[in-house]
Amino acid sequence: MAIGRLRLKDRGYDFPPYRPPSEAYSLLLRVTRGCPWNKCLFCSMYKDIPFERRPLEEIKEDIEQAARLYGESARTAFIGDSNSLVTKTELLSEVLRSLYASFPRLERVTSYARAQTIAKKDLDDLKQLRKAGLVRLHVGLETGDAETLEFIQKGATPEEQIEAGLKAKEAGFELSLYILLGIGGIRRWKEHADGTARVLNKIDPHFIRVRNLVPQPGSPLHEMKQRGEFSVPSPELILEEEKRIIEGLEVTSEFLSDHISNYLPLNGQMPSDKATLLQTLGQELEALRTDPALCEEYRQKEFLRNL
Ligand code: SF4
Repeated sequence: MAIGRLRLKDRGYDFPPYRPPSEAYSLLLRVTRGCPWNKCLFCSMYKDIPFERRPLEEIKEDIEQAARLYGESARTAFIGDSNSLVTKTELLSEVLRSLYASFPRLERVTSYARAQTIAKKDLDDLKQLRKAGLVRLHVGLETGDAETLEFIQKGATPEEQIEAGLKAKEAGFELSLYILLGIGGIRRWKEHADGTARVLNKIDPHFIRVRNLVPQPGSPLHEMKQRGEFSVPSPELILEEEKRIIEGLEVTSEFLSDHISNYLPLNGQMPSDKATLLQTLGQELEALRTDPALCEEYRQKEFLRNL
């Protein structure tokens, strides 16, 4: 059986089970398995995968195997799983050097990273990784509301998120921060929106990517939802929340709502596109309140999102 987009099948090429949508055409390489934190209430991604650091020899075997097939074509690579920065700096630098040596046309290598790990890592180590060719970090902020961050067990306060974001930028990384619409529930949607805008304004990341909360079976939040202990906001409230976040933003980031979970695709460069993004959201909200056909469309999207 062929495995993954690369169709690597002759030996046990181990690829990360998750990657950002922007890495859809990237070579996928696994440096760790699972998530060393694995406590976030909304997350089911690595619940059945014990955390492991892969030995360098094993990683290099995968690089060699991929290079035999795609050595001339790979332009971008993504390193998994959830937080590659827990890897020792020397080992990760060696992996990066090996990647660039094996794929001569490689222009960009990116990775997921936890804010806490960035905050704890020595700035010189981060700079070393950047110099070795790690270009972009994808970090889950989820929310800037302190109470919600604690509730979801993200393991980072808003101030630690800010510290990590600024440190990543100082080390020279492109920073892509992920926001989870709906994670404040019905009770704290305003605090979630305002806190998120505040943290984003302090960091001013290169990219802001929003995702809609869809509690997945296997996640603690899904169980809470089933027991009636957590309510996901309605589509109208989610759009209101997104509008409120954008209204509060004073950043120069690219804003993207480009995930299958999102109700409304949005893409704009801040601050120049802020008014257009708000206008689009305002029009959608107005239509959602008055057009039964659009309500039905959203209802169907909701059904598909929960498949
Ligand atoms: S959201 Fe990220 S850090 Fe949290 S448990 Fe999932 S993979 Fe780990």
